[in-house]
Amino acid sequence: MGDELVDYKMYIGGEFVDGINKNYMSTTNPATGKAWARIPNGDTDDVNKAVDAAKTCFESNEWKRLSPTERGRLLYKLADKITRNSERIAKVETKDNGKLFKEMNSQIKKLPSWFEYYAGLSDKMEGTVIPQTNKNILNYTLKEPLGVVAAFAPWNSPLLLTTFKLAPAIAAGNTVVVKPSENTSASMIEFSKLFDEVGFPPGVLNVVTGYGEKVGEPLSKHKDIDKVAFTGGTETGRSVGKNAISNFSPVTLELGGKSPNIVFEDADLEAAEAGVISGIFAASGQTCIAGSRLFIHEKIANKFLKKLVEKTKNIKLGDPFDKNTQMGPVATVSQLDKIEKFVEIAKDEGAQVLTGGTRESSLDKGLYFRPTILSKVENNHTVSQEEIFGPVLSVILFSNENEVIKKANQSKFGLGAGIWTNDLKKAHRVAHAIESGTVWVNTYRALTFNSPFGGYKNSGVGRENGIEAMFEYMQTKSIWINLSNEIQDPFAIKL
Ligand code: NDP
Repeated sequence: MGDELVDYKMYIGGEFVDGINKNYMSTTNPATGKAWARIPNGDTDDVNKAVDAAKTCFESNEWKRLSPTERGRLLYKLADKITRNSERIAKVETKDNGKLFKEMNSQIKKLPSWFEYYAGLSDKMEGTVIPQTNKNILNYTLKEPLGVVAAFAPWNSPLLLTTFKLAPAIAAGNTVVVKPSENTSASMIEFSKLFDEVGFPPGVLNVVTGYGEKVGEPLSKHKDIDKVAFTGGTETGRSVGKNAISNFSPVTLELGGKSPNIVFEDADLEAAEAGVISGIFAASGQTCIAGSRLFIHEKIANKFLKKLVEKTKNIKLGDPFDKNTQMGPVATVSQLDKIEKFVEIAKDEGAQVLTGGTRESSLDKGLYFRPTILSKVENNHTVSQEEIFGPVLSVILFSNENEVIKKANQSKFGLGAGIWTNDLKKAHRVAHAIESGTVWVNTYRALTFNSPFGGYKNSGVGRENGIEAMFEYMQTKSIWINLSNEIQDPFAIKL
């Protein structure tokens, strides 16, 4: 029976279980509008159970006695398993979030690189010996795990963004409770099945499914959570961050963006055009690093926009599994409504729609929005300042370098930025001046396991990927050993 729902379970303490309340929610394929899987709709009781399992595991000898090298070996095994199952899991993600199969497939194929990189790092997190004036003192540091990590991921790149957290957290010796998005929990559960087969002690990874308020909120507030790692919207991040700090837990937040993509008059215009399209229309604009503000030098604006509009009109919308499709649907009905609302606001504020601006009526069963370019937009308009998370590009003209730097930085966000120029000095000057965690020059949307990723300003706190991420999941202990028989003066601190 084609319409039967696939049944998924949570993963807690090494077992696949229903929620304690036995409630369920369905997950919908955005390309067809049809429900395809049934997921446990958990609550605080499941969160408590999962945190208990993670804490018990963290404190157990079974986990503690594993050396960092042995943890690394388990992560290498996991990487192998993901490689062998990547296509199957990518299909699940496409069914869940509607993004192109080729995009999800290339994401899942890359996950093993993250697990391998952090597997290799797990036994290289060395402490240091710190020279002291008093030769009778040996002072050294240890790098230790934090404890139980709560990891939150959004629906746009579910497993990739969870992996950014899981791989370093486990390599560092923590245990983890994951809360996937209610819209895209299935791939996380498929992943848990592979994790389960590897032979990690039960409780290293736990997955609790359900809604943000019923599962996410109690998880971020739980007193036994020692670290919160979150990717999602800025306002949810603010609330999750407050909860973490109220328990004095360190927090990593990867939040929204309104990234500038700047095309100078000396750029290779064909390359810039491809970079602008990739920045805003790949993944239907549903990426935190979407280059949603196009700053274009006024001298080349007409010529560049003419071609850009022509190309945009020809973008092929359709079934995300069809290899000729270039843009799939957006992930949820509320997302589609939100995009539509922003375009209306833009028009009210004086914007002109050069192309798109409406739902795609020929694909009315799916959640399709036409790739949209808006001109006559100012940098202070709502559409240039708020994250839309959809295929909507605001075009803003500039006349010189200082002006565009100022405008690009006039944003509460600072996640990514693109610069298109053939002038090397200008490229470096502007890259240094832009307030953003990542700057791409003559390329866009590039990221990988060993390069730090994160936001300036309201785009986040802390860094994922690279060696820096390992430090986000560890704490430092300083140990002082008295090598002499000298008796200390009890009333004087040793400085
Ligand atoms: P949300 O902030 O709504 O959700 C993110 C995660 O948090 C989901 O698992 C969600 O669960 C959960 N959540 C929701 N409410 C709460 C709560 N009160 N307490 C704890 N957890 C909660 O983001 P979206 O899923 O809508 O994702 C889109 C956003 O993610 C965009 O703003 C985008 O910019 C950002 N993003 C950032 C990236 C980055 O690296 N900087 C990368 C990708 C996306 P549920 O879905 O069940 O509500």
